[in-house]
Amino acid sequence: MSHGRIHNFSAGPAVLPLPVLEELRETLPNLEGTGVGLMEISHRSSTFVDIFERARERVKRVLGLPDSYTVLFLQGGASSQFLMVPWNLLHGGACDYIDTGVWSTKAVKEAGRFGEVHVPWSGKSTEYLETPSSWSSTPGAVYTHYTSNNTIYGTQFHHVPDVGDAMLVCDASSDIASRPQPYEEMDVIYAGAQKNLGPAGVTLIALSERALARARASDAPTMLAYATHVDKKGMFNTPNTLGIWVLERVLAWVEEQGLDAVAARNKSRSDRLYELLDGSDFWLPHASSDSRSQMNITWRLADAALEPVLIQEALDAGLSGLKGHRSVGGLRASMYNALPDASADALLSFLQEFERARG
Ligand code: PMP
Repeated sequence: MSHGRIHNFSAGPAVLPLPVLEELRETLPNLEGTGVGLMEISHRSSTFVDIFERARERVKRVLGLPDSYTVLFLQGGASSQFLMVPWNLLHGGACDYIDTGVWSTKAVKEAGRFGEVHVPWSGKSTEYLETPSSWSSTPGAVYTHYTSNNTIYGTQFHHVPDVGDAMLVCDASSDIASRPQPYEEMDVIYAGAQKNLGPAGVTLIALSERALARARASDAPTMLAYATHVDKKGMFNTPNTLGIWVLERVLAWVEEQGLDAVAARNKSRSDRLYELLDGSDFWLPHASSDSRSQMNITWRLADAALEPVLIQEALDAGLSGLKGHRSVGGLRASMYNALPDASADALLSFLQEFERARG
């Protein structure tokens, strides 16, 4: 691979498209002929405001959101949304949280500060190996929160839940813009950028009209109120200019290929990996078959003692980031949009060879 890069299966921050990195290098000393570098230009300059607005428009186009949605790029990571969502929307009311793992659990904890939290479905007792197909919603709930892709366990929703009249809030951090989805059925979509969109330090938030209307009645402090940022066109304070530039370019890269093509590639390479893992008792894939993630593939080895050996040999062969999350162990290959096909091919060949030698 060029630039001495190796195959990067990190769960996030994660691999970015090389053409975007190369363009970034050009903009660092001089952005768009302004004579001022990307990290040095005022966020209020017309050059940057144009980039900012282009980024907002691209988000809507790629996700297929109507114009009535408002897109924000805030800081504080997806973790800050765990508290901004309930503070802006709940107002002491009731809400449902679908518990599909560590990130959902953290979101539940924050929501509990602002209202009555129900957990109508939890995968805790079954080691979070699946996502639910349905559950009974709490009557009168203001919203239902779910995590569309569970980065740690490698599970993913393959449908958008129907929550009746309640609003739907989606933590889409680890599968945003990886496949077409009816995003317009969601009222709040949020995602840390560092997997499918760009560098760490930018958080994408998209709000429906009714979510914003309810947020306007919130008593959240200035910086934590969505309305503050919406009313100042997303620039109440200095945004992460570098990160937003990268996000805009990454989404342009997705748009050039088309989201359908990107999704087809994501599906085909995760299918190939699952097929290999299902192929023998040497491997123990974690997620149940209808809940499997196309972004994060998690598995163990029947002989757990071989796991660290595999991780080390993979690294020696130029494949990094395959160690499972510290809370579950095992192995995890994250294959986000920007992972080159050559990396997926290299992983498959490496695993076949490892099994041949040790199986
Ligand atoms: N939600 C999900 C699904 C995640 O994978 C992560 C981070 N890996 C987070 C939330 C937390 O994101 P951040 O580090 O941006 O706060």
